[in-house]
Amino acid sequence: MSMDRRDMLKGLATGGALAALAPGVAQARERKELPDGALGMLYDATLCIGCKTCVTACHEANELGPATQDSFGQGLYDAPDRLSSDTKNIIQLFQEDDEQSFVKRQCMHCIDPGCVSACMIGALQKREGGIVTYEIDKCVGCRYCQIACPFNIPKFEWETPTPKIVKCELCNHLIAQGQIPACCDVCPRGAVIFGKTAELLVEAKRRLEESPDKYVPKVYGEHDGGGTQVLYLAGVDFGKLGLPALGEQSSPALSETVQHGIYQGFVAPVVLYAALGAVLWRNRKNLSDEEDTP
Ligand code: SF4
Ligand code: SF4
Ligand code: SF4
Repeated sequence: MSMDRRDMLKGLATGGALAALAPGVAQARERKELPDGALGMLYDATLCIGCKTCVTACHEANELGPATQDSFGQGLYDAPDRLSSDTKNIIQLFQEDDEQSFVKRQCMHCIDPGCVSACMIGALQKREGGIVTYEIDKCVGCRYCQIACPFNIPKFEWETPTPKIVKCELCNHLIAQGQIPACCDVCPRGAVIFGKTAELLVEAKRRLEESPDKYVPKVYGEHDGGGTQVLYLAGVDFGKLGLPALGEQSSPALSETVQHGIYQGFVAPVVLYAALGAVLWRNRKNLSDEEDTP
């Protein structure tokens, strides 16, 4: 191969690498806003008494199979301590020195969900009311959604030959019938309430203003991880309750910005691969021409 060809390839390769690294190539993906009419829940941990009525109601409303025993061996009825393929909703207890709080865990119905972004064939999607729903017919069981969820919510049905992903879908089957999510319907303390997220946020801020001594001065979910349609109030630091510190940018906003940057940088390598193909074709042609020459 002549020096000219090597120089050309070197130039193209350098151009491709530079294009991939060039500042400004990767454009930040725009922030997603709360969809119109977004539905959600407000859970106020200071009102929760840990009765777990919501856990049993969730179990029944979603036909999640037999009641799950606790894993501490105390034989408590339907008292799961972690989310599983049988359990879309749990109540956990945080206790340390003189601090104590219950915390409810279920899907947060993120405004910009990592699970939706990671699901390559759209089995998980944000639908009406911003509810993040799941379609088993589309799911290939790759479990990327599990890795992508910053709240560790989706669970996989390991025990069946046709496994599916299990997570709270805000009881969308009940909402479609004009009802409200089972957990909100049965809570005897009104610790978890259902409504439009925008209105729930106003209510949460009203409570914060009315009783500042009772609460950590923040509505968790207003901005966290790009915002969630399920909001939390608590009297104990949210980190202690297992709600992660996520910053205001959603993980898809970051990952899709990086991906798009890389793919844009691939424009030049595509030119490089085309040039390489042309060189290979010419080399083969030269070789066969030489072979044909007596
Ligand atoms: S909490 Fe997890 S599973 Fe629920 S919408 Fe957000 S990323 Fe998806
Ligand atoms: S909204 Fe429905 S599925 Fe979600 S935690 Fe409440 S009862 Fe369970
Ligand atoms: S039903 Fe209400 S008070 Fe009882 S555990 Fe659930 S959220 Fe807490």
